[in-house]
Amino acid sequence: MAENNQNELVAKIVSLCKRRGIIFQNSEIYGGVQGFYDYGPIGSLMKLNWKNIWWTDNVIKRRDVVGIDGSIITHPTVWQASGHVKNFADIMVECKSCHKRFRPDLLEDSSKCPECGGQFTEGKKYNILFETEIGVIEGEKQHAYLRGEACQTIYLDFKNIVDSCRVKIPFGIAQIGKAFRNEITPKNFLYRTREFEQWDIQYFVHPSEMDKWYEYWKATRMAWYQKLFNHPENLKFREHDKDELAFYAKKAFDIEYNAPWGWSEMEGIHWRSDYDLTQHSKFSGQDLSYTDPVTKEKYLPHITETSGGVDRSFFFMLLDAYQEEKTESGDIRTVLKIKPQVAAYKIAILPLAANKPELIDKAEAIFQNLNAKYSIDWDDSSNIGKKYRRQDEIGTPWCLVVDYQTLEDDTVSIRDRDTMKQIRIKSDEVDSWLEKQLNK
Ligand code: ATP
Repeated sequence: MAENNQNELVAKIVSLCKRRGIIFQNSEIYGGVQGFYDYGPIGSLMKLNWKNIWWTDNVIKRRDVVGIDGSIITHPTVWQASGHVKNFADIMVECKSCHKRFRPDLLEDSSKCPECGGQFTEGKKYNILFETEIGVIEGEKQHAYLRGEACQTIYLDFKNIVDSCRVKIPFGIAQIGKAFRNEITPKNFLYRTREFEQWDIQYFVHPSEMDKWYEYWKATRMAWYQKLFNHPENLKFREHDKDELAFYAKKAFDIEYNAPWGWSEMEGIHWRSDYDLTQHSKFSGQDLSYTDPVTKEKYLPHITETSGGVDRSFFFMLLDAYQEEKTESGDIRTVLKIKPQVAAYKIAILPLAANKPELIDKAEAIFQNLNAKYSIDWDDSSNIGKKYRRQDEIGTPWCLVVDYQTLEDDTVSIRDRDTMKQIRIKSDEVDSWLEKQLNK
């Protein structure tokens, strides 16, 4: 795809997100800060649903996975043990002419500046952990870090969970949580930011079963994303080359999305062996081994990790769902064809006219009947065309219109976002109809 088209699609999503209250640049009134975003009223509902689907499928529905919600700041030694203090660094170069900074590993041609063609300085290494201090008294403050990846908290809680939660190997610990990286070049909207959320599963197994469970999680995570994307052909695995592999990893695969700027990592499926528990045993002096309750074998479990970006996959899902369609009247209709489970509102209730109390009362009664069960929007502004357009743009799968016929025969019109077809059903059948649609 030509560069202009790539940027055009991303720009369209950014603009839609701002126009419809999905995502805003953080601190925009102060000119913004690069790499930080806020989810607005519609976006925060969508993101909550996005995370809920993950949590339901990976924790609630599984007997072999438990969840945690860990703290962002940890004991600073955690980041020594994990290797982040020493190695969590990116190389940065600066253009000698325009002084813009880049990560050479992310440039197509790392010999000259993509902005002005200028020469680069020598690369320098920068640690990308965010630093902070615990305590307020000068001289007694403890140097600390915002977590650079959420998964470390899982290793820290491993022993407590084994001791308190009757888990038996094989089992997983899952977490959704914030991570912070002082990225040198945040870019492409939510793709590379400095504050983001990750969804991780660390699955603990007997060393002899690593291969089996690695392949299981690799397939399971891909199938999960395929279910939520309209164009599964835009998802693929990328196997890491031997020289990319960590010394403890037998193999590694990324699940990639075919983004407008090229195939890009969305989630990593990592073979971590017993590296993390070994490191934390060494640095903490604690025994983190596991004793099999039946065989009494004592060993350090090995780990398959699935680590994905919540915001990054959310953005890819928006790119996948975004469509512009020519309507019969020749207009362009913008529609977010997201899965109903992800949509901020499952249905929008639209009384045909705001100035007809009978219509408003009937619509209000339907709203009250449904809103304990579903997230619903309400729009009694005047123009039905505009109301549909707004709901299409935020991905509301169905619009319910209360019109004059409703007052005669108690039926309402339901319009489908994707087909734009309308059906009429009795107003007291909407609940069961909606439930059926959502469970399809
Ligand atoms: P990248 O190579 O893109 O920097 P990574 O290999 O460092 O990513 P991991 O450490 O494996 O990423 O993190 C797991 C997931 O967290 C990634 O697959 C990605 O979805 C997400 N992620 C990592 N860094 C960022 C970021 N700066 N902004 C948004 N999401 C991120």
